[in-house]
Amino acid sequence: MKFQCASCGLRINSLHFKKSGLMNPKLTSICDICITRGLNPANFENKVVQDVALVMLYGYEGKKTESNKLTKEEFLISSDKRKQYESFIQDYDSNEVAQQQISQKDFNHAIINSEDGIINYVPGNNVDFAINMQKLGLTINFSLNELDYIDREQIRRKYNYRCQYCGRKGTSVDHKDPVSLSQNNDKDNLILSCSECNRIKSNMPYKLFIELNDRLTVVNKKLVQYENTLANLKEEFSQAKRDLAGQVHLRGVINDPELNAMRKQNKKLHDAIDSLQSDYDSLRHTRKEYFEAGWKLAKENKDLDII
Ligand SMILES: [Zn+2]
Ligand SMILES: [Zn+2]
Repeated sequence: MKFQCASCGLRINSLHFKKSGLMNPKLTSICDICITRGLNPANFENKVVQDVALVMLYGYEGKKTESNKLTKEEFLISSDKRKQYESFIQDYDSNEVAQQQISQKDFNHAIINSEDGIINYVPGNNVDFAINMQKLGLTINFSLNELDYIDREQIRRKYNYRCQYCGRKGTSVDHKDPVSLSQNNDKDNLILSCSECNRIKSNMPYKLFIELNDRLTVVNKKLVQYENTLANLKEEFSQAKRDLAGQVHLRGVINDPELNAMRKQNKKLHDAIDSLQSDYDSLRHTRKEYFEAGWKLAKENKDLDII
């Protein structure tokens, strides 16, 4: 659930409005960032939070009100910047690595410094989370390349050189979580994937990737079949080419009915491979589009989630 802060105007996770560590949890009219600023929840009205507190049997810290309207003109953050802060804060809220390394308090102070222009930077929507953090002076160690070769080889063997998402051949050792958001080099957080899944996965939230991939079991099986069949046919083709070359060498002639028959056979094999390859490519393309569409829809859905 999301609440809108009565002071800054940001619409962020309700956890930012919950005072923890109390016998009776309380909800506040303004967010914890604004409280960090030294603002007092008692001076702000927030009907939505007030109502939710009542329903949840929580305490409410804020000015009691009957009005549903927050005073928009007085919001601390102008509306064009709000979305940028909101999505950045959401990134932090859902990133355990970041939370482990940067305390909520330090994070809030950095946000305040940005809001007030003390740091001349507003987190960008299309900017990598790590970069946004860095520009706000919050450095996280996201370094990923500490795995040495042996470790990678062990992971590959553990998963039998198979992509754990689609089942095709894979050699790319990476994190279950999106690479830029995780530095957890725990063996359990490392997985093997093919370059194709890796590319798709790195472009979207991990959870969503898994959710969509789970619906593609049949398609993924087909991809594996295509890959295997193509590999076998290609192997057969290069064997046939070697045989032909051997025969040409042996007979010392180029034109020979038997050789021509072999060539004809090879041509058929080659055509079969071509046509199978194009079916395979088209299925891969459709699968990629499915992921892209799924993510687009998820983003649209998120925008509707107002409170
Ligand atoms: Zn606030
Ligand atoms: Zn894969």
